[in-house]
Amino acid sequence: MDALDAKYPFFATAREAVAEAAMSLPELVAADAPAVERARERVERALLDGTVESESGTFPADSAYDTQAELLSYPIARILVSLLDSEPAVEKYAAAEAATAVDRIRADLATDDELRSVSAPTVALDDVLVEFDLSDAVRPERSGHSPSDSPASTSPAGRDPTHYWIAVGPYLRLTSPSWGPSWRLVNRALAAGEVRLSREELLDALEAAVAERVREGLPFDLATGEGIAAELESGVAELKRLLSERSYTGPIDVVAPELFPPCMTNLIEKAERDAELTPPESFALMAFLVGIGMTPDEVVAFCADTSLNAEGIRYQTEYLKDDRGTQYPPPTCETLSNYGICHNEEDHMQVAADPLAYYEKRVADADDLDDWRDENDARDESEAV
Ligand code: SF4
Repeated sequence: MDALDAKYPFFATAREAVAEAAMSLPELVAADAPAVERARERVERALLDGTVESESGTFPADSAYDTQAELLSYPIARILVSLLDSEPAVEKYAAAEAATAVDRIRADLATDDELRSVSAPTVALDDVLVEFDLSDAVRPERSGHSPSDSPASTSPAGRDPTHYWIAVGPYLRLTSPSWGPSWRLVNRALAAGEVRLSREELLDALEAAVAERVREGLPFDLATGEGIAAELESGVAELKRLLSERSYTGPIDVVAPELFPPCMTNLIEKAERDAELTPPESFALMAFLVGIGMTPDEVVAFCADTSLNAEGIRYQTEYLKDDRGTQYPPPTCETLSNYGICHNEEDHMQVAADPLAYYEKRVADADDLDDWRDENDARDESEAV
């Protein structure tokens, strides 16, 4: 089995490797192979932390799991997430697989060429474009017709282009205006049916392509209590228990911005400066605001003077809560720290494991609370007069 297939288990070659594996998935599950535990971890991390990287470390160098367990955990995780029977769980799982894949692609692209050939199983950008049938749709700026085709459009290392042009069809399919005003076609350089993208923006589009691929076919239609579903019953029950423990069905329900944790205050201030939030930043902020009990309308009003637009807010907040009231909390402090969102001011990571728990403690300790909703209602009333 190839470590690259395990690293990118949604690639076509990985599917073939799974099909050719010595043991079938039902046999693996019946034998409680390491892939089953890794699959359970994969789904748990996806739903609670927004990543599928193992807690034991980054695959392949630091992970406790070998190539076989890592690769085979992916199809088992897809079965587990199907058995959770929740559309938001599928969405969140696909988003986490995609975010992890793009982190890995980013690291691969940064790997030195010499190292790449010797030890590390890495992909090149061209491999990813071929995988998603985009090689004819995307081209680096330096080889095209742009007036900025010059050495200045390559990275400081002089090796990788800093900008690309993508055909308008794939651009519209893989990006969304809900990501922010700069993604609207009217706000982008457009020439001869192609749209200009920075390298990071191209990775955002590829993240959407991965999420689309992961989401394909999910949830599987599985009869509960039979076959592989019966074997995985205890794993599914454990995931549901964890989710309900980490659910915040409105116990806080007070909006006191002065008590928000620094990570969230920093994100709000960044958006208020009209700077665009990255997808992990805006996901963390939306999950926090929904987690403290705000409705999508309240989030829209709260973020009215920021770079976040109403359409994007509604899109993001929609799948953070399913119809049974389960909410998917923002990532843990550790994950936010890995994304550079948390700076652990005054070592307060000691106080709580995630921003909601931290806020809950601060609200519980406060003597006097002003709820932003009251001020907002008063403002609305005075404007109506
Ligand atoms: S420690 Fe947690 S709550 Fe505090 S800033 Fe970091 S992520 Fe936010």
